Amino acid sequence: MTAPHAVILGAGSAGTAAARTLAGQGDVRTTVVGRTDEIPYSRMLVKNVAYGQAAPELIRLPTPHGELVTDTAERVDPATHEVHLASGTTITYDVLLVATGSRPRGLDPDVAGVERAVRERRLLTLHSLDDAVRVREAIAAHGEPARVAIYGGGLIASETASTLWSQGHRVSLVARSRVPGVAAFGRPVAERVAADHASRVTTYFGRTVRRVLTTPRSTVVTLDDGTDLEVDLLVVALGTTPVAPSPWRDGVAVDDRLRVSGPGAVYAAGGVAVHHDDHLGTWRIDHWEDSAAQGVHAVRTALHDLDHGEDPGPYRPRSTYLAMIHGRMISGVGYTGRPGTPVAQSDELVVLHDQDGTVVGVSGIEAVGEIYGWGSRLHEARA
Ligand SMILES: Cc1cc2nc3c(=O)[nH]c(=O)nc-3n(C[C@H](O)[C@H](O)[C@H](O)COP(=O)(O)OP(=O)(O)OC[C@H]3O[C@@H](n4cnc5c(N)ncnc54)[C@H](O)[C@@H]3O)c2cc1C
Repeated sequence: MTAPHAVILGAGSAGTAAARTLAGQGDVRTTVVGRTDEIPYSRMLVKNVAYGQAAPELIRLPTPHGELVTDTAERVDPATHEVHLASGTTITYDVLLVATGSRPRGLDPDVAGVERAVRERRLLTLHSLDDAVRVREAIAAHGEPARVAIYGGGLIASETASTLWSQGHRVSLVARSRVPGVAAFGRPVAERVAADHASRVTTYFGRTVRRVLTTPRSTVVTLDDGTDLEVDLLVVALGTTPVAPSPWRDGVAVDDRLRVSGPGAVYAAGGVAVHHDDHLGTWRIDHWEDSAAQGVHAVRTALHDLDHGEDPGPYRPRSTYLAMIHGRMISGVGYTGRPGTPVAQSDELVVLHDQDGTVVGVSGIEAVGEIYGWGSRLHEARA
């Protein structure tokens, strides 16, 4: 009998973790499809390249286990078990893992001046390695200090504002929400982070960007209240949205085993996966460790479906994340997208996030040990 062929689309966090898990299975042949001309790298570390703290070659990932094909997947036909690649090649699979991650959300289409600002590299996102190199070059081109406006309220916007401020740049932080970051780490943590920003960088919370005008000397970012910010660079960090080959749009829906419904033995994991289950409802996590954990879980389900192993059970997020913002350690474990209740408040802050009375995530400030300790108790303990 020939070994089943597992094809993994995407050589990032979820894809490489999945390939590593399959490597222990001698009787499965694995092919990892990465993007055309892309050497796999850690997306989590691209910010270090942008901040001038790491060279691009230092954030490369080890070559994934199995065969690596650098050729963008354009279309999947689950009925025939075929993946059609940009080069015209077709690969057939027995099981398929979609792990193609996400892309940055853009500005609203009615914001004026975006195309020109992008063309002139005055408006950048921070998602790919190319983005990071462009951000680094744009900041360096203006010498010290550069005037940088950051638009967004999540972890990437906050970390970028904090790091560039600590490097001596003049930072303006614009966020749509009056308390940015609530969706990322819950209101109590977000309120403290917002206060830290307000005491260091120039903040425009509760504001949106309406126009980006480039002139030979600067970029003028106009907010919805008419305020003009004259800057050298605008970094847009408005979160991510899933990216997947056809036939999927707006993410790949998975059940609690990370199976995609319909024909074709398809699974999905990481930033591309939109989860629907009885425990958390509809949710998505785009973090490095959780994507890797999903990749491992998805291939365990796939192996079980091939009669190669135990049923891993339903996927429950228990992974951790960490960010240093204005000198404070922000950390989280599990799913912290639900509103949170603070249980300890001093210099340390611990916030429990619950779903119908069950703790599903914990976030906080300066309390890494306690927060990480919750990992094994999540999804069981009562709030
Ligand atoms: C600037 C920045 C900082 C971050 N910092 C942190 C952090 O501190 N902590 C944290 O936990 N998370 C962080 N993250 C998030 C983390 O990097 C992502 O959650 C994680 O990389 C998601 O893993 P993934 O496997 O789903 O996607 P990715 O790691 O993005 O991998 C997807 C891969 O699929 C490839 N691909 C896409 N489409 C195709 C296609 N059609 N065919 C073939 N290949 C394709 C992509 O090129 C990519 O290599 C950060 C993200 C960014 C952008």
